[in-house]
Amino acid sequence: MSELLYEGKAKKMFTTDDPNVLRVEYKNDATAFNGKKKAVFPGKGKLNNAICTKIFHVLQEKNIPTHFIEKISDTEQLVKAVDIVPIEVVVRNVVAGSLAKRLGLDEGVSLGRTIIEFYYKSDELGDPMINSDHALAMKLATEEELAEIRRQASRVNDVLQTLFADAGILLVDFKLEFGKLKSTGEIVLADEISPDTCRLWDIKTHEKLDKDVFRRNIADLPETYEKLFNRLEAVQ
Ligand code: UDP
Repeated sequence: MSELLYEGKAKKMFTTDDPNVLRVEYKNDATAFNGKKKAVFPGKGKLNNAICTKIFHVLQEKNIPTHFIEKISDTEQLVKAVDIVPIEVVVRNVVAGSLAKRLGLDEGVSLGRTIIEFYYKSDELGDPMINSDHALAMKLATEEELAEIRRQASRVNDVLQTLFADAGILLVDFKLEFGKLKSTGEIVLADEISPDTCRLWDIKTHEKLDKDVFRRNIADLPETYEKLFNRLEAVQ
């Protein structure tokens, strides 16, 4: 028996016979600006599944705990069931997007140190930015869990900066979500890491290899994601 548990903007989650395991299906839909801009791109789900799988394999090789189990088809993965911590964790190495707007900084300027930001996961409120005090007061996570989330986010950044640099790509910023394993309560990296959730620029030309090509009408999305996939595949 497999039931649809949740349908998001880019993925569907289904139950499996094992209560500790879910099946994720990557959709071909792309959305931006809180769902105001929408399109369907044949092949997108397959590319994001392949890219995300590659990234989770690399993170697991580096002993970062994740919800990922395995890729089971072009568009599907099995993952461990978690309770999602309702905080979106954004990690930034280079100024872009909302950081540039909010603080009046120039896009493309390297930050002297990595910035980790928290956003409260709430579609209704438009994911407002919060700090650790808000997260604790709202009981979104405990102090220990927040410390673990920051530590893991920082390790993910180290591993992914190296992976992408080896492919000639700059990891500008990205969003992570964490969950608590239904089985043990352990904090693990969850959700997806893909060009939908990262900003990735060619190191030399700053050509965009992520969803900004769709947000800003710069280039064809599947062609861009395929280029990214091929560059990651070429990395040993
Ligand atoms: N991001 C995401 N989902 C969100 C918000 C942001 O995956 O709901 C990613 C986004 O793709 C980028 C990073 O987080 O890589 C930082 O996004 P930013 O805060 O600059 O917001 P944006 O201007 O992209 O909405």
